[in-house]
Parts: sequence; C-alpha cells; structure tokens
Amino acid sequence: MIIDGKAIAAGIQEEFRQIISSIEGRKPCLAVLLVGSDPASEIYVSRKTKACEMVGINSIKEHLNADISETELLSHIQRLNNDPSVDGILVQLPLPDHINSMKVTMAISPEKDVDGFHPINLGKLVIDDDSGYTPCTPLGIRVLLSKCGIETRGKNIVIVGRSTIVGKPMASLFMGRGDGGDATVTIANRHTSNLKNLCLSADIIVAAVGQANFISEEMVKEGAIVIDVGINRVDDTSRKRGYRIVGDVDFENLEDKCSHITPVPGGVGPMTIAMLLNNTIKSFRKSQSQQVKELCLNEFSYY
Ligand code: NAP
Repeated sequence: MIIDGKAIAAGIQEEFRQIISSIEGRKPCLAVLLVGSDPASEIYVSRKTKACEMVGINSIKEHLNADISETELLSHIQRLNNDPSVDGILVQLPLPDHINSMKVTMAISPEKDVDGFHPINLGKLVIDDDSGYTPCTPLGIRVLLSKCGIETRGKNIVIVGRSTIVGKPMASLFMGRGDGGDATVTIANRHTSNLKNLCLSADIIVAAVGQANFISEEMVKEGAIVIDVGINRVDDTSRKRGYRIVGDVDFENLEDKCSHITPVPGGVGPMTIAMLLNNTIKSFRKSQSQQVKELCLNEFSYY
C-alpha cells in the first residue's frame, strides 16, 4: 500500500480550516523569517505560508538580506517573541555561515517555537511531556502511521540518520510510552556496521539520510513498512527543469515488497507542513481564554 501523505495532510488541514473558521476575533498567526535567497528555502517558505492561508492562519513573512548581522536577526526574533499577536515563530534553515543557527534556535521563545527545535521542547519530548512542540517531520510520520492503523508497540524500528530535526526526535517518539511509541528503536549513522542486517531485522524503517536510493531492495524484509523522509534532486533530462525529486528509498523496486511505503513527493513532506500548522494552533490555543477554548477550540484534536 502506498501511503498517500498528501491526502492525509489535506484531510487534517480541512479539519484545521473548519476549527479556525469558527474562531471569532484574532486568528492564529505564524511568523516566518527567511534570510537570504536560497531557492529551495524560498519554495519551502512559500509552501508554508500558502498552507497557513488555506486554513485561515495569518502568516507574516519577513524576508531579510543574506548579509544581516546575527545581532540584528536576534533582535527581529526578540520583537516577535514580545508580540502577543504572534503564536509561532519559524526561522527557515539553513542560515548563512556567519550566523550561529544554535544561537538563533535558542533565541526563539520555547512557547512560540513551533518547529520544536529549542532544547526545552526537545527535552520535553524526551520526558514524554506533551506540553511542548514536537519537530514537525517526526510528528507527521507518527500521525501518518496512526492514520494508516499501523501499530508501533513492540515493533523493531530502524531509523537511518541521527539529525536533531528528524532522526533523534523520531527515535524519542517511537521510544516514548503509549500510542505511537512503545517500540524498540535503533538509530543508524554513517559509522554503523552491518546496516543491511539491521534494516533486514526491522518491521519499520525510517530513512532520513539525504542520498537517493540509499535503502535498496535487499535491505528490506518482505512485508516491512518503509517511511522515506529524503528529498534529493536527481538529473532528469525528460523534465523541463532538468531534474526530479526522489527520496532515500529505491521506491520502484520496493513498492511490491513492502506492506506500506511512502512516496516522494507526496508522502512525509505534506505531513511536515500540516504539523507546523498543528503546532501553531496548539500555541494559539494556549494563549486563549477558557471561554474561547470551550466555544470552539476544545474540538481541536491536536497531535
Ligand atoms: P542530515 O542532517 O544531513 O543527516 C543525515 C544523516 O544520515 C546523518 O545522521 C548521517 O550520519 C546519516 N548517514 C549518512 N550516510 C550514512 C550511511 N552511509 N549510513 C548510515 N547513515 C548515514 O539530514 P536531515 O536533515 O535529517 O535530512 C535527511 C533527509 O531528509 C534530507 O534529504 C532532507 O532534505 C530530508 N528532509 C525532509 C523533510 C520532509 O519534510 N520531507 C524534512 C527534513 C529533512 P552521521 O550523523 O554519522 O553523519
């Protein structure tokens, strides 16, 4: 079965749209800071702000020059931290080399850190405290599995890749107690020996490597579930733009071997954006009075 992340994300966004349309007065608001003009970052930011628009979340896009100083960028963040009409703040990564990304991540108020990268939110994830924000890609994967009725309890899960935005928080979610967790998790990195055998023992594989076709047919057992996080450009002269986007998984040769597999594009990507909206509404909800929560926001089934 090919997991249709696009359709599942659209269903979730429709749910959000209905809830937001029932809110009278101020709507949730996401501020997105884009530094410089990296074409891929510009595409990601425009997808995020478009998704906000579709569900009725206000979005503020601040496009800053690539040569902005770190101090200046931090003061923009501080201003947004102090603005009560802003619920979520996202700084699109990567940042230019002269800016320390960790300093920027730390400057965003944990209460508005809807990307979930602040150490306070990552810490809350590790201790199973759901009052924080979970990074959007791993959260989206958990929701995808749950929407497809895939149980993680007692499963062997191999995550290939240990980044702070995907691999590590994904592992915390799967290791956590309760639904969507309770799994036995292995995280691989480039020094892992015998990756093929590890993967062959997995009921679920999450590939977050950043290399096209990295997970091949002989690494996956019959009937396993494969989640492909990768976004890679490969040359394709048949396309007008000269390339196409593929994941980290050899989809063509694995499609028939897996019980479930996510495509690229149309799998994990749309869920990442849906979870950004989820986190923004979650933040907005916290700032609202009990009366507003009772009137409409209690129906909000955030993740
Ligand atoms: P990253 O920070 O570059 O991490 C890649 C990870 O892969 C590292 O931990 C690295 O190990 C590991 N790795 C590299 N070669 C390996 C090998 N031969 N064997 C085992 N592990 C190996 O990447 P990321 O930010 O997690 O992103 C991964 C991919 O997902 C990228 O293609 C990115 O564009 C995509 N992505 C997609 C979404 C989405 O919404 N769909 C969101 C985020 C990222 P070391 O730590 O040892 O170097």
